[in-house]
Amino acid sequence: MTTASGDTRSRVLRVVEVREETEEAKSLVFAIPERDRELFSYRPGQFVTIRIPSDRTGSVARCHSISSCPAEERLSVTVKRVDGGYGSNWLCDNVTAGTSLEVLPPSGAFTPRSLDGDFLLIGAGSGITPLLSITKAVLRCGTGKVTLFYANRDEKSVIFRDELRELAVGHRERLTVLHWLESLQGMPHRTRLAPLLAPHVGAETYLCGPQPFMEQVRQALAEHGAADDVHVEKFTSLSGDPFTERSPTPAPASVPDSEAAGRAVSVIVGGEEHEIHWSPGSVLLDALLDEGVDVPFSCFDGECGTCRAELVQGKVRMGRAEGLTEDEVEKGAILACVTEAPDDSDPTRIVVRFP
Ligand SMILES: Cc1cc2nc3c(=O)[nH]c(=O)nc-3n(C[C@H](O)[C@H](O)[C@H](O)COP(=O)(O)OP(=O)(O)OC[C@H]3O[C@@H](n4cnc5c(N)ncnc54)[C@H](O)[C@@H]3O)c2cc1C
Repeated sequence: MTTASGDTRSRVLRVVEVREETEEAKSLVFAIPERDRELFSYRPGQFVTIRIPSDRTGSVARCHSISSCPAEERLSVTVKRVDGGYGSNWLCDNVTAGTSLEVLPPSGAFTPRSLDGDFLLIGAGSGITPLLSITKAVLRCGTGKVTLFYANRDEKSVIFRDELRELAVGHRERLTVLHWLESLQGMPHRTRLAPLLAPHVGAETYLCGPQPFMEQVRQALAEHGAADDVHVEKFTSLSGDPFTERSPTPAPASVPDSEAAGRAVSVIVGGEEHEIHWSPGSVLLDALLDEGVDVPFSCFDGECGTCRAELVQGKVRMGRAEGLTEDEVEKGAILACVTEAPDDSDPTRIVVRFP
């Protein structure tokens, strides 16, 4: 089926079921046609981007983490209403079984490399969505243990309450679910989180929730020297529209001829090294796509974190990278969609590695 946006990567998918998880959250279950199964295969913790119609702007694009796990037949996402939010309320108010939506294939780096380790998953509110997917994948397909810490306002706002209970009962030896209810326990402050999280430090840690909550958790983990290797997913709204086809960024007119020639950059993708040409002023993602190097990407605006890579050597100039934390940037993480080659005469070789 042709898509309304004309984007060749997206597909129109039919919602086959809408499940009311709480008063404020619904799961949308998509049927994936046989021909699109490979395109829509995913790793636990990844997200899809949905095109939401709008009378005002034509459409908006919103990312939603996948709440099912790859071993399940159908792909589902879970949407929690945001006060005054356009996209989340449109999805909750308008989508019913039978609705067709335009969806970009799964992407994102908030996913474990192996399912066999031990995991500490920490979430609040709708942040449970990717964590549920990781939990189910580890229990079904991995060998490790999972501790899931999940904070909510009150009991009725706990998304997947029954599913989590069933999983915990069915996997007593491998899954521990620790609920935190603000109505009973107050705000999850770092001083109270630190002793709770202490016994689980050392496990591979994934964190997703509102910014103030994530800050408290990071400070609590820092008390145990464990804040550095935490994987973080930020739930922000995209300001751009990744559904509209994008043309390669031209080199700025002010770039002198000698520099317009660009420079070589070594890019390692999946262990394979590519030498590509990078024009000053253009972003790395455009340079890679121009040269046919296949890397994951989605928003083009530094917001979703999909095109995350590591700067192994050299200097680059990175624009606003909402999809990364300050810590990650300090350690050399970059987002290819907002990273430009330096236009100075620094001769240092640039080496970038994608996961
Ligand atoms: C990687 C990732 C994964 C995510 N996973 C989840 C998830 O699993 N579950 C979940 O609930 N959320 C998730 N989110 C968050 C989600 O993408 C949205 O940010 C969230 O639902 C809030 O979107 P909203 O449109 O309701 O709110 P807002 O973005 O706050 O909406 C308000 C915006 O919409 C604009 N607007 C208002 N009316 C209109 C109109 N008629 N037409 C066009 N624009 C209008 C306003 O100008 C304003 O900018 C995820 C985000 C990311 C980046």
